[in-house]
Amino acid sequence: MKRLVAIAIVLLVATTLESVAQEAPLDGLTLRQGDVRIVKIGDDMNASDVYGVIDTSNAPSAVPMFNKAGALYGIVAADLYQQPGAYHMTVYETATKRVLSMKALIVEKGAFQKSVSSHWNTQAFGQADLERIAREKKAITEAIQVSLPLPRWQDGTTDPIEKTDHTGLMTTPFGQIRMNPTQDWYRFHRGTDFQAPEGFAIRAIAAGKVAHLGHDYLLEGNITVIDHGLGIFSSYLHQSAFLVKVGDDVKKGDVIGRVGSTGNSTAPHLHLALRIGAALVDPTQFIEAMRRP
Ligand SMILES: [Zn+2]
Repeated sequence: MKRLVAIAIVLLVATTLESVAQEAPLDGLTLRQGDVRIVKIGDDMNASDVYGVIDTSNAPSAVPMFNKAGALYGIVAADLYQQPGAYHMTVYETATKRVLSMKALIVEKGAFQKSVSSHWNTQAFGQADLERIAREKKAITEAIQVSLPLPRWQDGTTDPIEKTDHTGLMTTPFGQIRMNPTQDWYRFHRGTDFQAPEGFAIRAIAAGKVAHLGHDYLLEGNITVIDHGLGIFSSYLHQSAFLVKVGDDVKKGDVIGRVGSTGNSTAPHLHLALRIGAALVDPTQFIEAMRRP
């Protein structure tokens, strides 16, 4: 199957290269589940001239693009649950829908840390709880259907919890596999946890617009969701207090809430989650890739 895909890509590139002014190399990109990569699309290009699509999810997903120092870049993301295998990213010319380039994307299994403990999955949700979880999940999903048409992360990213001697440390990495000792149950950690005491300031990792506030959700507790444009959304969970409203514009580093332990949490901390299109990814990779001094 991998070979067939490779052959198809080679054929497609061979047939399009002759009509492409600049060379479009077929260099592969290897990512692990949850990874974020910045890929150079080309020089002297504008985000409005082209669009990129990756076929990693069930539906083709748009690649968020941005200009920096005259060149155009795309943000390629692999979902935490992405089936390992060979995929590709195709870049089209907006005006003609002509293929400009195609890049092979290899997604590998994530190298996630394991945590085996009897305290995982001790909660038994009843029918009413499950219905409530579904309702709250739907409210979040609906709030992220539409995203701002332009990127808001151009002035970079920052840490959601200021680093001091006793705050900002990553306590649980993205993707951690939580199992109980009998190993008949496990789930992935769908974000990154940061150490901070109750009431500590939570900062927006990048500029954006507040897309959703969830009050006392069963799993997420008090959650704020920020739209950074082009389908990129950050979420801040378990808050003790909200400091913004839906529709507010926020700048990078603005205090948007206070650390707490609401929802499915045993002690105060911040759980930060990040979506890039359909992909749930490691937020720290996006923060590091987009960080400005
Ligand atoms: Zn967490």
